[in-house]
Amino acid sequence: MRSLGWFAVFAAAVVLPLALAWAVRGELWSNPTLAFGAACGWLAFALLAAEFGLVTRVRAAAAAFGSDALLLFHRAMAFAALALLAAHIVALAPGLPNPLASSALERWGALALWSLAALIALSLWRRQLRCAYELWLVSHRVLAAVVVLASFAHVWPLVTRDTLLRGPIVAGYTALALGALAWQRLVRPAWLARRAWEVVENRDEGASTRTLVVRAVGHAGLRFAPGQFVWLRTERRGLFAQEHPISIASSAQLDGGRTLELSIKALGDWSRELVPRMAPGERVRIDGPFGSFTPDGQPAERLVLVAGGIGITPMRSILLTMRDRGDRRPVTLFYAANRRARAVFASELEALRAELAFELVFVFEDPEPAQACERGLLSAEVLRRHLPQDLRFTQFFVCGPAPMMDAMERIAAQLGLPSRQLHTERFDMV
Ligand SMILES: Cc1cc2nc3c(=O)[nH]c(=O)nc-3n(C[C@H](O)[C@H](O)[C@H](O)COP(=O)(O)OP(=O)(O)OC[C@H]3O[C@@H](n4cnc5c(N)ncnc54)[C@H](O)[C@@H]3O)c2cc1C
Repeated sequence: MRSLGWFAVFAAAVVLPLALAWAVRGELWSNPTLAFGAACGWLAFALLAAEFGLVTRVRAAAAAFGSDALLLFHRAMAFAALALLAAHIVALAPGLPNPLASSALERWGALALWSLAALIALSLWRRQLRCAYELWLVSHRVLAAVVVLASFAHVWPLVTRDTLLRGPIVAGYTALALGALAWQRLVRPAWLARRAWEVVENRDEGASTRTLVVRAVGHAGLRFAPGQFVWLRTERRGLFAQEHPISIASSAQLDGGRTLELSIKALGDWSRELVPRMAPGERVRIDGPFGSFTPDGQPAERLVLVAGGIGITPMRSILLTMRDRGDRRPVTLFYAANRRARAVFASELEALRAELAFELVFVFEDPEPAQACERGLLSAEVLRRHLPQDLRFTQFFVCGPAPMMDAMERIAAQLGLPSRQLHTERFDMV
C-alpha cells in the first residue's frame, strides 16, 4: 500500500502539468500532431523535475521500494524522459536540435536534450569511458541541473501569459527540483555536520577489508534495522568530497545505535588508500539509515542469506542482531568467495553456530582439497542440497557482486521463488 501511495504521488506530479496545460489549451492543441508534441513536452518537463525528488533520499519512499528498485526506476524514468523529448521534437520541429540555433527557444530546448543525452550516456558507459566515480557524480549533478534550468528557459516564454501554468507549474516545478538538489547538497550536509561521528578503531579484518568502528559525538547516534546502509562522508581530499554508501555491519542492538561498525573492502582509490589511513579521533559524517534490505517487518519463519564477497556486511548485521535479540528462527547463510582466505569474518561466522539456529554453507571457487564447503559457483542444486522443500515461509536476502546477483535471479526462478520472497541489495550503483 505504501509503495502504491508513493507511486500515485509520483504519477500525479508527472501528469499534473499536462492536465493544466490541457485545461488552458490554446490553438496549438487543435492540431493532433502539435498537441501530441506539446503533451510529450509537458510530460518530459514534469518527469525531469520529479527525478530530482527520487534521488533526494526521502527515507519513507526509499523504504517503500528499496534502494535497488528506486535506482532502477530512476534510470527507467530518465530513458522515458529522453524518449518523450525526442517525440516532442519530432512532432513540433523535426530535425537535429541545434544548441547554437538563433532562436532562444530552440537553443534552450537543444541544450536540455543534449545534456540529458550526455548524462545518460555517461551513466551507461562510465566504466568504458574510464571516468572515475567521483568525476561521474559531479558531472551527473551538473548536467542534471543544466537539464532542468534549460528546460525552464525553454518553457518559460511559452507560458508568460498563462498564470496558472507559469507560477505553480513551470516556476514551482523548477524551484522544487533545484530545491531538492540544494537540500541534498547544502542543507542536509550542514545539518549532518552538527551530528559528528568519530572513528574509535580501524581494524584490519584480513581479506583486504578494514572495519571502521565509529561512535556518535554528543548525540544519540542512529537507530537502524539490520541490513540497512549509511552514506559515509570522509574528509575532503583532493577535488571532490568522498561520500560512499556502506552497509552497517554491526548488530542493531549494539549500544543503542551510538556505535556502528562499517566494514570496507579495498576496491578503489578511496577504500584502498584513504580508509586504511583513517586514525582513531578522525571525524566522519554519517547520513542514514537507508534501504529496505532487512528482515525486520518481514513475515518469515526461516531466513536464507546469500552473500558474495563483501556482500557479507549486511548479513553480519542481520546475524548479530538475531543473536542479540535471542531470535532462534532457522537461518542459512550461503557465503560465496574465491577461497576461505578471501571470506572475511569466516571464523566469527563459524562461532555464531553455537548461538543461533544457524547453518553456514561456504561456497568456494578455489578451496583447499579437504575443505568442508560447496565447490564452484552458487547454483540451484547447491541451495536445494541445504534447504527444505517447502520454502513458502522463507525470505531470501541476497547481496554480492553483479554476476552473482544476476545468477541468483535465475536460481530463484528455478526454485519457483516469488519475487516478494527475494530481497536484493546491489553494491555497484553505477
Ligand atoms: C547500498 C550499498 C551498500 C554498500 N555497502 C558496502 C559495504 O558494506 N562494504 C564495502 O566495502 N562496500 C560497500 N558498498 C560499495 C562501496 O560503496 C564501494 O565499494 C565504494 O564506494 C568504493 O569506492 P572506491 O572509491 O574505493 O572505489 P572505486 O574503484 O572508485 O569504485 C568502485 C565502485 O564502487 C562504486 N562507488 C564508488 N564510489 C561510490 C560512491 N561515492 N557512491 C556510490 N558508489 C560508489 C562504483 O560503482 C564504482 O565503480 C556498498 C554499496 C552500496 C550501493
